Amino acid sequence: MSRVYDLVIAGGGAAGLTAAVYAVRSGLDFLLVDSSASMGSQIAQTDEVDNYTGIDSITGIELVQRFYDHANKLNAPMKNDTIKKITKQNELFSVECEGQTLLAKSVIFCAGAGHRKLGIKGENEFTGRGVGYCAVCDGFFYRNKTVVVVGGGNTAVTEAIYLSKICKKVYLVHRRDTLRAERALTKKLESADNIEILYSSELAQICGGNSVSSVILKNGKELECQGVFIAVGIVPRSEAIKDIADTDEYGFVLASESGKTSCKGLFAAGDVRTKSLRQIITACSDGANCIDSVNRFLNEGAQK
Ligand SMILES: Cc1cc2nc3c(=O)[nH]c(=O)nc-3n(C[C@H](O)[C@H](O)[C@H](O)COP(=O)(O)OP(=O)(O)OC[C@H]3O[C@@H](n4cnc5c(N)ncnc54)[C@H](O)[C@@H]3O)c2cc1C
Repeated sequence: MSRVYDLVIAGGGAAGLTAAVYAVRSGLDFLLVDSSASMGSQIAQTDEVDNYTGIDSITGIELVQRFYDHANKLNAPMKNDTIKKITKQNELFSVECEGQTLLAKSVIFCAGAGHRKLGIKGENEFTGRGVGYCAVCDGFFYRNKTVVVVGGGNTAVTEAIYLSKICKKVYLVHRRDTLRAERALTKKLESADNIEILYSSELAQICGGNSVSSVILKNGKELECQGVFIAVGIVPRSEAIKDIADTDEYGFVLASESGKTSCKGLFAAGDVRTKSLRQIITACSDGANCIDSVNRFLNEGAQK
């Protein structure tokens, strides 16, 4: 008979690696599965993290490496594979990966989120040829060039600040008349003399030949630029569980702090679940809380 794990942790970012640390300490028979062997977590896309308690400043790559090293040092079992679908039958979860199918009594789903697209002309056409979604990953290619960042939240402002250190000029295009980002970030933004903020503005089209050469705003204005970085929100990676768990209208898995979803034994942690603050520290908190919920769930089952 196939092995049945107490728990499969689906995703190895901030939430998943924290859950793994707590799962080892709880003595659970578990496996963490992550699709990326090289830091798939959004944390790795962050230039500098300065809001994780106890560490005043660290690069995203270093922080996720520390999370990984911590779990690894405890011999947390981890596997590199992509989860395609999770189903439930006869009280057991079947976690269908590209490489194999795993059976588990419970699942913590923490696959994080991806980038939301603008959906305008030129976006798909120039992706990888001037259009990007991660300044830390691609900013290097725009040294001394002019770029446009789209968005007004923490991520967009962080991207603009990062790019201002590399690029000649950065336009921040935001559709509202005020930024949504934290005050500490907007202060940094305002102190950069090569960032120009265009409020109440939206992109209509991205133009170019072999690569991006300009953007056209909805008011008709054209901005010459070589790069466009889009940071207009995130899309939850909840596809694999959409048939077994309820989500909100945007696809975020309906779950509270306990991680409990509409499907018994399935818990959701991190950016993929409904919550108001999606940060590293809240994802870690979710990971820890979910292990507490998993322990309670497995104990309930054992008492039956
Ligand atoms: C540019 C940027 C800057 C940010 N800056 C900050 C900051 O300064 N401070 C802060 O607190 N937060 C910041 N954040 C937010 C923070 O990174 C997230 O809130 C946090 O990483 C969420 O953790 P998570 O575990 O839910 O998801 P993630 O960390 O994204 O991890 C999800 C994991 O799931 C894996 N995965 C996905 N799909 C599958 C699948 N099908 N099968 C197997 N594995 C899968 C991925 O490989 C990944 O490792 C930033 C985010 C971005 C994008």
